Amino acid sequence: MSGIVYLVGAGPGDPGLLTVRAQELLASCDAIAADALANPDIVAAARAYNPTVELHDVGKRGGSGESARQETINALLVELGRAGKKVVRLKGGDPLVFGRGSEEAQALAEAGVPFEIVPGVTAGVAAAAYAGIPVTHRGAATSVTFVTGHEDPAKEETQTDWSALARTGGTIVLYMGVKTLPRIADALVAGGMSPDTPAAAVQWGTYPRQRTVVATLTTLHDAVVREGLGAPVITVIGKVVALRDEIGWFERQPLFGKRIVVTRATSQAGALRGALASLGAEVLELPALRVVPLDPAPLREALDRVTEYDWIVFTSQNAVALLWESLRVAGRDARWLAGRRIACVGRATADTLLARGLAADVVPDRFVAEGVLEALDERDDVRGTRVLYVAAENARDVLPDGLTERGCRVDVVPVYRTSSDGAGSGALRDALAAGRVDAVTFASASAVRGFIEAVGADLARRAPAVSIGPVTSDAVKAAGIPLGVEADAASIDALTDATIRLVREAKSA
Ligand code: SAH
Repeated sequence: MSGIVYLVGAGPGDPGLLTVRAQELLASCDAIAADALANPDIVAAARAYNPTVELHDVGKRGGSGESARQETINALLVELGRAGKKVVRLKGGDPLVFGRGSEEAQALAEAGVPFEIVPGVTAGVAAAAYAGIPVTHRGAATSVTFVTGHEDPAKEETQTDWSALARTGGTIVLYMGVKTLPRIADALVAGGMSPDTPAAAVQWGTYPRQRTVVATLTTLHDAVVREGLGAPVITVIGKVVALRDEIGWFERQPLFGKRIVVTRATSQAGALRGALASLGAEVLELPALRVVPLDPAPLREALDRVTEYDWIVFTSQNAVALLWESLRVAGRDARWLAGRRIACVGRATADTLLARGLAADVVPDRFVAEGVLEALDERDDVRGTRVLYVAAENARDVLPDGLTERGCRVDVVPVYRTSSDGAGSGALRDALAAGRVDAVTFASASAVRGFIEAVGADLARRAPAVSIGPVTSDAVKAAGIPLGVEADAASIDALTDATIRLVREAKSA
């Protein structure tokens, strides 16, 4: 029983340029082997709806030993295919345009492993289009040539006839050609091309961090070095480059190049992300927190003697869910908690309880530990009582300490740990520390808290906030975060408009 290997183009970067076929395969395959140039967001998204997919990181970057690595990749694809797997070999752009996809196909054909090829949108066309440059245009270019600026170093002589290219009068699209650009320009001029021919370099084409430099054939390299552009760059040479002044569009979007943070704690985070991205923003998200349940024995033991407690305090929805799991395992339900008074730190936690048939006695106005203490101080049935405190590991001590000060005997039972899966929060912290974040959007007061938890109070104050309404604005100000702008209405559209306003003001200031 043999599997099948799909050689799939991931497109140039913008995940919206993935083909429908590629998306289907990513959602249903057993394994993904992705190139360094395939946008990692595409793989991350595939993983979200195909969680059991096995990932093979085969991203290779230039340098020596490249061909050996290619053999390793070929061998891996053959091996996975022979193991009966449905494999997506994901490659940047189109798999057969300077992608060595054909070499992989040859290896698979030779090994008798079935394969299919799914074309992708190649960077030479897409990066140009997103820079406002058509590769052909009536009256300006009747042909286009894709050419590599980085020939196999093992070759004795160039395979490219540059002077023939110079004479076509068509557009030249150069892949991998930043370093070799001066020599290529010389060769084209020697072949008769005007040194003043318009030329453009597009770095990270179709990504929100796209940058374009326009010059002439002979001045482009200096301009590229001056502007600090490096791989991946597509270079376009020809009259068509001039059309960019007229039909450039991507880089003119209202949020183009802006880094905007979307904070958690709203079910509409996806919609907001989409709205901001479609206006050109680079959207940074808080890494999803993973909830890792701890050993349930201490909680079960506490529940066995639950009647000893006067109060149960829940710090989060997770605490509620895990306590319920312990009840369920013991064949119990909400009635087991009958007679206990209940406090919750937040509204969402109280709602989770309500959904299970229990109304909390105390839900503070301020959704922090101090708020719970204030609310408890207004009651006369707290002092000297016994409290079961169901919390996350390493939760703040404010609440248990405060209760102890009030003469309570508090049993702290940690039931879970949150672990943020690393890289995401690091990247966000770095961007904040470097002052590269233009705005942070908050769609709720609890999102303010989540943001501070993720990056720390210090870094949280480094970028202006866009708030969805007055309550959220209060939370922003209370946290010491500069309030940039407040939305006119509590909707994703209004939040998006407010973000645009903030960015415009920053520009004109
Ligand atoms: N198969 C790919 C090309 C792989 S060769 C495709 O069809 O697009 C790698 C080169 O592609 C890079 O050196 C760069 O020249 C170009 N490239 C790929 N993605 C790019 C992007 N998003 N922006 C600019 N150039 C890109």
